[in-house]
Amino acid sequence: MPDKRVSEILKGARGEAARAKLSADLEQVRVKYLGRQGLLTQFLRSLPSIPASERPEAGRQANEAKAEIEALLGQRLAELRGAERRRELESQRVDLTVPGRRPPMGTLHPLTLVQDEIIEIFQGLGFAVAEGPEVESDFYNFEALNIPKDHPARDMQDTFYLAEDVLLRTHTSPVQIRTMKAQPPPVRIICPGKVYRRDADITHSPMFHQVEGLAVDMSISMGDLKGTLELFAREMFGPRTTIRFRPSFFPFTEPSAEVDMRCFLCGGEGCRVCKQSGWLEILGSGMVHPQVLSNVGYDPEEVTGWAFGMGVERIAMLKYGIDDIRLFFDNDLRFLTQFA
Ligand SMILES: [Zn+2]
Repeated sequence: MPDKRVSEILKGARGEAARAKLSADLEQVRVKYLGRQGLLTQFLRSLPSIPASERPEAGRQANEAKAEIEALLGQRLAELRGAERRRELESQRVDLTVPGRRPPMGTLHPLTLVQDEIIEIFQGLGFAVAEGPEVESDFYNFEALNIPKDHPARDMQDTFYLAEDVLLRTHTSPVQIRTMKAQPPPVRIICPGKVYRRDADITHSPMFHQVEGLAVDMSISMGDLKGTLELFAREMFGPRTTIRFRPSFFPFTEPSAEVDMRCFLCGGEGCRVCKQSGWLEILGSGMVHPQVLSNVGYDPEEVTGWAFGMGVERIAMLKYGIDDIRLFFDNDLRFLTQFA
């Protein structure tokens, strides 16, 4: 007949194993019954003290009980671990149909947008893009452009000198010189890039961007220049844009002209933006000075040319109605993202 104490132990172990809710609870059950101080272990240890006649049967039953409890614990452990794993997966469920979070996309800087647009307009007219170094020699920046050392025009531009005769270019005109020196006419290029002048206020920045243009060929006239710039202004500011040429002076062009467009805000009536004049200055231009053509080895008797130069910031300020140039360089996203 079954040993009473073994039956009690077995009953207790079965009940507790069944009630265990977590795999950790089961470990406690195992320790309680099968551990070194466990109830069944203690019973087995007490076998020598029971009567010899009952000992083999009691020992057999205790070992059977031990095997049963071990099997039971193993089975429950598998069940509980499975349930725990399911709960864990449930809590980490991922809905693959939820749209992902996109990283914020950058946008092109308004100056880049405007410069690209200027380039595109002139590329459409057959102009090639030419680039050159921002650190220039005095020769390319001034001398070759008909601005000798004692020329009063040098006072027009306050220059950052890096060493004697080495400077940060004050305009992209040196690229025109480099291009002409490197190839025979005809030339049709635009030169976009950064330029530097000692100047800083709400309409001037010590670093700003220019796009210059140059066309040199046989029988190129001021009329071609005007037609080209008229087309540019209409592409850039709208089909009803009118421009006018106003006589001016630059050492590297002769004759020279400032180009104004009719104020788009007041239509020429006069307003705050155009300072009541009805016109807005957009660029400088002129026929390439014969001396400049000679300086690069061209024959001014054979070829003529024209050139123009505009500030990208100025064009962007007019196009977008921005009245402070510093906004372009403050890196304020509230400003920059408006041009996305
Ligand atoms: Zn106006």
